[in-house]
Amino acid sequence: MSEPIISLENVRREFMAGDTRVVALDDFSLDIRRGEMVAIMGSSGSGKSTLLNILGCLDRPTSGTYRVAGKNVSEFDADALAALRREHFGFFFQRYHLLADLSAAANVEIPAVYAGVDARERRMRANSLLDRLGVGSRGGHRPNQLSGGQQQRVSIARALINGAEVILADEPTGALDRRSGEEVLKILKELHREGRTIIIVTHDADVAARAERIIELRDGRIVSDRRTETTATELAAPVPRTPWDSRPGWSGALRRLREASRMALVAMAAHRLRAFLTMLGIIIGIAAVSSVVALGNASQRKVLSDISSLGTNTIEVFPGKDFGDARAAKIKTLVLDDARALARQSFIAGVTPTVSTSTTVRYRGNESNVLVNGVGESYFLVKGAKLAKGRLFDEDAVRNIERQAVIDDNTRKTFFADDQTSGIGRVIWLGKVPCRIVGVIAQQQGGFGSNQNLSVYLPYTTVQAQFTGDRALRSILLRISDEISTNLAQDAVTTLLTQRHNTRDFVILNTDDIRRTITSTTQTLAFLVAAIAVISLVVGGIGVMNIMLVSVSERISEIGVRMAVGARRSDILQQFLVEAMLISSIGGIAGILIAVLLGMAVNIAMPGFQISYSPLSIGAAFLTSTGIGVAFGFFPARRAAFLDPVVALSRD
Ligand code: ADP
Ligand code: MG
Repeated sequence: MSEPIISLENVRREFMAGDTRVVALDDFSLDIRRGEMVAIMGSSGSGKSTLLNILGCLDRPTSGTYRVAGKNVSEFDADALAALRREHFGFFFQRYHLLADLSAAANVEIPAVYAGVDARERRMRANSLLDRLGVGSRGGHRPNQLSGGQQQRVSIARALINGAEVILADEPTGALDRRSGEEVLKILKELHREGRTIIIVTHDADVAARAERIIELRDGRIVSDRRTETTATELAAPVPRTPWDSRPGWSGALRRLREASRMALVAMAAHRLRAFLTMLGIIIGIAAVSSVVALGNASQRKVLSDISSLGTNTIEVFPGKDFGDARAAKIKTLVLDDARALARQSFIAGVTPTVSTSTTVRYRGNESNVLVNGVGESYFLVKGAKLAKGRLFDEDAVRNIERQAVIDDNTRKTFFADDQTSGIGRVIWLGKVPCRIVGVIAQQQGGFGSNQNLSVYLPYTTVQAQFTGDRALRSILLRISDEISTNLAQDAVTTLLTQRHNTRDFVILNTDDIRRTITSTTQTLAFLVAAIAVISLVVGGIGVMNIMLVSVSERISEIGVRMAVGARRSDILQQFLVEAMLISSIGGIAGILIAVLLGMAVNIAMPGFQISYSPLSIGAAFLTSTGIGVAFGFFPARRAAFLDPVVALSRD
């Protein structure tokens, strides 16, 4: 006699229910030969389902050995067991366990998907099986559009698609009416005649009577094992095994990835609103990060271009040890003689000493604080100030200590808002000194005179004579001749002034320094804002994880079915991981689109700005979103992959 296809030897299966140990199968030994049709009977709780789960390799015995075609299954790992379920066993269940989101034909194809059968072959097999089972016209229907009998036939077709030498059916007629049940039994009989081994769990004696062998269980033990005389089946040829290729290497991996993506898309389509809400966190996060970074770059570019309009060949000398020296205003070491000495240097094209003081400005009973700047005539040119009205004072005015004032736009708005002349020709009182306004300079965005303070510009000689009284300067502004580099000039000025003062009690600012300072400031700022945006991305990722966990626990029974028909752990892992990845990368694409549109809107609304997205930054944003999907989808996917198939299947 040939070796039994199924052989249990002293198998025991215990469960812990709280603190008590339940023995579901006790010292259980059973051999089933190839091609037998066996019914397993017994009252509820006698261990039928436990036995079937062990036979189907969904569950493992606590002790004892289980051999399939002579091979000890307890030595198999999870993937090998999955392969056994996929290639050798076909399950059908009392409640069919079809996946609601898939059509009947797609349900039938699932085991073939995991076996690596290609799509066309799969479809052909599924359709011919459905035809054979009399539901060929229902391939495109969803399970909930089918009757119970039709659903059971679809589940039978699913069990058969990979060949199924051994069929395991748990109460296959239990949920069906008499006629449908009868038809299912006829199909089982037919499968038996083809040479398949059939094991049916049932509590119905009529159903059991169709089998050649009836095994009765009580409390996890066999109480009777008898043959019926009704059937003496002549054994047909062995079942033609469907050749299966689980193509190793790249093409197999690629195919499985494609299938996982397809399944993920189906799942997303079935829960569109939820998928969208999950994406929303990623959309907002990616849009925020991209916009903020682009905006930061654009404003930095703008500020830098504003600075370069000031000209690069100027340097300014201030008293004090360094910038922000609190005592700088009291330091009187930078004097007019320094300016004169500098003016004699060949590399200096122009020298403008500046002095400043604050006082009150009065005009017709109005009064305000004002910063009085004493400057040379070339100051405006060097600083890039633009004249809005009137004229600037000239060299003669400086030499002759004239009381000519150039006011800024804030001062004009404060005192001459309603005056046709904008104040030109009017006399204002700076403290006790009357001055005539000769010009108004325009407000410049981001640069000259951009704050709220009022500023008035007088010849520095006038300010010294009328206000400050001494020769100490606020600064010396130097224009460098074109032939010499700013850095060389700066070195020469430093040497000269250090010699004159015997110490280095001044600081020198050139526009390059300003540029560097602004660049590093805006970079720091951009970094901070980007950090906040990254936090929003993490929050989005946690949202993805959260929803994926919900999705996993909602689909536990789907996972159980997939495992029962032969999905590997890695297939389940991949399916959920790909779903998380798709959700967040689609969200990422949407976020990038929104950011680009926002950038275009800003460019139109604010012509000075040039927001642009490089392919590099778009690619980085996309990769980030995909990475978030992988990182935050991994935990839920792993949880799904390591579910116990029996526990998952019994969940409804
Ligand atoms: P049947 O299918 O014949 O009704 P089962 O095989 O489902 O019986 O159960 C056999 C015994 O094992 C029962 O006493 C049941 O309570 C127990 N049992 C089955 N599964 C579990 C489980 N996961 N945890 C605890 N006890 C279980
Ligand atoms: Mg049961």
